[in-house]
Amino acid sequence: MSKSTDELFKNVISHAKEYGFVFPSSEIYDGLSAVYDYGQNGVELKNNIKTYWWKAMVQMHENIVGIDSAIFMHPTIWKASGHVDGFSDPMIDNKDSQKRYRADQLLEDKIARYDKDGKPDKAGLLQTEMDTALKNEDLLRLRELIIEHEIADPISGTRNWTEVRQFNLMFSTQMGAIADDADLVYLRPETAQGIFVNYLNVQKSGRMKIPFGIAQIGKAFRNEVIARQFIIRLREFEQMEMQYFVRPGTQKDWFDKWKKTRLQWHLALGTSPDKYRYHEHTKLAHYADAAFDIEFDFPFGFKEVEGIHSRTDFDLSQHQKFSGKKMQYFDPEVDPETDKPYGNYIPYVIETSIGLDRMFLLTMINAYEEEDLSTEEKQDSRTVLRLHPCLAPVKAAIFPLIKKDGLPEKAREIMDKLKFDFNLQYEEKDAIGKRYRRQDAIGTPFCITVDHQTLEDNTVTIRHRDTMQQARVDADKLEKIIGDLVSWKNLLK
Ligand code: ATP
Repeated sequence: MSKSTDELFKNVISHAKEYGFVFPSSEIYDGLSAVYDYGQNGVELKNNIKTYWWKAMVQMHENIVGIDSAIFMHPTIWKASGHVDGFSDPMIDNKDSQKRYRADQLLEDKIARYDKDGKPDKAGLLQTEMDTALKNEDLLRLRELIIEHEIADPISGTRNWTEVRQFNLMFSTQMGAIADDADLVYLRPETAQGIFVNYLNVQKSGRMKIPFGIAQIGKAFRNEVIARQFIIRLREFEQMEMQYFVRPGTQKDWFDKWKKTRLQWHLALGTSPDKYRYHEHTKLAHYADAAFDIEFDFPFGFKEVEGIHSRTDFDLSQHQKFSGKKMQYFDPEVDPETDKPYGNYIPYVIETSIGLDRMFLLTMINAYEEEDLSTEEKQDSRTVLRLHPCLAPVKAAIFPLIKKDGLPEKAREIMDKLKFDFNLQYEEKDAIGKRYRRQDAIGTPFCITVDHQTLEDNTVTIRHRDTMQQARVDADKLEKIIGDLVSWKNLLK
């Protein structure tokens, strides 16, 4: 990370705290590693990102519906899904610092270093060797690569490494009153399984016909061994997942379609396309026959925000096997090749899975700007969050110019008319310029000032966040002006 991007990232983190977006969890007890809380503005931004996703997936697709399944599920689900046996990361400990690392990430950092130092050949070779070792689950080879490439612990600086071992990422707890009798249950590491085990409930009760999708937003938990980069890698996080059930044989077409559709969702927010790229998985998960990540160019490099996975019929077949219940769907449509209905089959699944917290960070970083407003006469600057108006936590702030002469009452009257449709903020403290800056810092698209003229002709000044231009408008037109700018139609159409 160059100094300027490093600094930018640090500034975004402190801005997020200072303005009530993200706080370290349990801060008065010195925090809890890789767990964060969302503050008063953070929760609004997060909810708006969820709404954008939900509307784009559920409201805009007749054949996609949502559910909200429980976090606790029958423990056998995680046997069937492969998580009990296979959801692990290769870990290595440094004997001197006593710190634990993901072996693949130590190697990835080294690859990035080779790239940076102008040694792309070395980087490419190490990448290939690492991919092969991961694919073959060859833990010995992973360790050899760490030794061969002289990777040292960033803390102790030594190369005194243990063996590489697999470490399961699922949190577990006990369900039941008496510890001895209690069943081991897991905190779900993904929301997807809640969809799979409900697929027939939804299909039957909703009379869904293939292809159809089920969407869900919810918490997931992973005991990530190394937590870093703020809210990128959390132990408690939120996912927005959609499982799309398709006829076997058609999965490739649907996979390509969802890959494109999901990138469009990101780009509709106005982000420059060169901030995004696709990354194809070389090591496919046990359930997948194709997988692409959508990556974003964070200050610390390109990182996955969303995964599009072709999960085959793996999950449903496993649940059929482990539960003994039929997971088949009867497809009445006639196959033109045989002239007979397609009949019974276990559907194939395309999954789109995006991390809400990563999307949140991406949005903050993208929006954050330290703008120099200096003129020849004086130095000036502001920090502005150029959030898409649909995502902005506060849609408009209402200011009486001064705290007397009936201006606060008039401002409140305007606010009372608008508050049913928009999240607003009322502020009467400090000079107008200062109030503008505070709203810029949280990304409020409009500031509305009520002054003495308002009492005479019912006009107010409306000031736009991005251009800082002001205009005088009839207060009765505010609902339409704000409504037009923050309409979801702007994003969804
Ligand atoms: P990574 O390789 O970064 O660990 P993953 O491939 O394990 O991610 P998936 O299992 O595909 O991730 O999960 C889908 C999405 O959930 C990811 O694209 C990411 O946005 C989000 N996600 C996964 N793990 C975490 C985490 N620990 N903290 C925050 N978000 C996460």
